[in-house]
Amino acid sequence: MAASRETKTPPGAAPALEYDAIIIGAGMSGMYQLYRLRELGMRVRVFEAGTGVGGTWYWNRYPGARFDSESYSYGYSFSKELLQEWDWSEHFAGQPETLRYLNLVADKFDLRRDIQFRSRVAAAIYGEDTRSWNVTLQDGSRFRARFLITAIGPLSAPTMPRIEGVDTFRGKSFHTARWPHEPVDFTGQRVAVIGTGATGVQTIQTIARSVGHLTVFQRTPNWCAPLHNGKIDAETQQKIKSGYPEMFKRCQETFACFLHTPDPRGTFEVTEQEREAFFEKLYAERGFGIWQGNFRDILVDRKANAVISDFVARKIRQRVKDQKVAEKLVPKNHGFGTRRLPLETFYYEAYNQDNVDLVDITETPIELITPDGIKTSVKEYEFDIIIYATGFDAITGSFDQINFQGVDGVGLKDKWKNGPQTFLGVMVDGFPNMMMLMGPHTALGNIPRSIEYNVDWVTGLIRYARESNLTRVEATAAGVTSWTDHVKALGVGLLSSEVNSWMTGYNSNVTGKQTRIVARYSGSAPAYRARCDEVAAKGYQELALE
Ligand SMILES: Cc1cc2nc3c(=O)[nH]c(=O)nc-3n(C[C@H](O)[C@H](O)[C@H](O)COP(=O)(O)OP(=O)(O)OC[C@H]3O[C@@H](n4cnc5c(N)ncnc54)[C@H](O)[C@@H]3O)c2cc1C
Repeated sequence: MAASRETKTPPGAAPALEYDAIIIGAGMSGMYQLYRLRELGMRVRVFEAGTGVGGTWYWNRYPGARFDSESYSYGYSFSKELLQEWDWSEHFAGQPETLRYLNLVADKFDLRRDIQFRSRVAAAIYGEDTRSWNVTLQDGSRFRARFLITAIGPLSAPTMPRIEGVDTFRGKSFHTARWPHEPVDFTGQRVAVIGTGATGVQTIQTIARSVGHLTVFQRTPNWCAPLHNGKIDAETQQKIKSGYPEMFKRCQETFACFLHTPDPRGTFEVTEQEREAFFEKLYAERGFGIWQGNFRDILVDRKANAVISDFVARKIRQRVKDQKVAEKLVPKNHGFGTRRLPLETFYYEAYNQDNVDLVDITETPIELITPDGIKTSVKEYEFDIIIYATGFDAITGSFDQINFQGVDGVGLKDKWKNGPQTFLGVMVDGFPNMMMLMGPHTALGNIPRSIEYNVDWVTGLIRYARESNLTRVEATAAGVTSWTDHVKALGVGLLSSEVNSWMTGYNSNVTGKQTRIVARYSGSAPAYRARCDEVAAKGYQELALE
């Protein structure tokens, strides 16, 4: 089935170029979706705002950017040849290595010839007459395709703090997700970091040693736990390569596709000594074990959560010498693990250095960015460099930046004004032939595992549509209501649902995002896949097919 070739272009306007499918974004999702759709013999165009592939790993070049998923559990699993060809050098690879890996993937599968870089999509408007999507880039050029697939990233729309004077600063300033491609020299420099989320933590611990002086402006401390990174030696490399099938099978079985999954025991089902020993073991182990592999109730039972929070608070107090500073670093407004857990390497020890200061901006708020630095309610600081580690307008932010219009010109932003509504996190009623990868209401976790599943599911649906000569596939309103209600119900009782964070769609720096929403699916990945498999196995009868 070829895409419709007739164009309905207004007189005088340039005709739209036609494809079978358009993918927005060339991160891990978009790259893999391109690979799969090409296998169906489709004519595909990918539009990517950046100048290269890699998405997250293309943009986030800040010092210390690295995985908190184990490297080998993060890479693509679809090509045995690729798995054997690529050596991860560390258990948690840094950004340059991951970007090299993704460039290798692009080369190996000759992906670039269908990717148009420097091409930010501004609008995507559905045309019922041709049952296709009309896509307009920021430069005004237009394209058309039967299927539209968004691969625009859950964490790809950076946010700046709402502080007056940001543009007046005379020194250098960078957002961590818009870091320059050239190295930044911190030697002898007076540096400010605003923000102590996962990116702030990685930046602070990395530059603390090379800066002249570092001042960290913290609003909300986060619970952090040690990463315990290390090089992968030859013997381990061998084991990893021969064990890939079992390792990926394990990722399919765990709650969030990580190598870690909750311990079946409850916090209070063991003695205090056993509990303490278990926490110590997890704190000494690599990666997310202390978050994802802890007692099964720490994220739902307030008392259980208080016990692990108390354990990690003790660790912070032991590691930070000045107890006044330690107290500022211990979170008081949320329990351990109820926001995304930053993993760190000597983060707390950085505050023991003479050249590092911590400013709590809940005590002394930032009033202004000045030409020379930062003015708080009590002091004016001078800086050579300001780093904004202020994160992202998560999950829905990259959608809000595109003018999506479905049937009858209904805007996606309007449809989602009270929070996203989706079917399986992949489709929306009123937006036929549009599929979302890593959008709201889908399982995230160790994200590439979810990406591969979602891409394969979307590919299956498109294959089915082409083989059945369908030109219009759409979620039903009933299906969307039912999935959205299900996703909301899953969030009830989770302590994380009671906390302001990017996982609850809260962002104090974005207008209109000061109300918590249910932005992500919080059930288990196996349950998510089972439901999606069921829809496919029943011939997609839950969709409206024409
Ligand atoms: C610093 C950092 C560390 C992370 N570490 C981990 C980790 O260890 N484990 C894990 O599972 N996840 C991690 N993540 C999450 C990470 O985002 C995902 O793992 C994964 O990279 C998502 O891939 P994606 O292709 O869906 O989105 P992205 O990688 O975000 O790619 C989206 C692409 O879409 C493009 N785009 C967006 N809007 C438009 C538009 N309008 N027009 C054209 N192009 C557009 C962007 O430029 C970008 O290239 C991390 C995220 C960050 C920011």
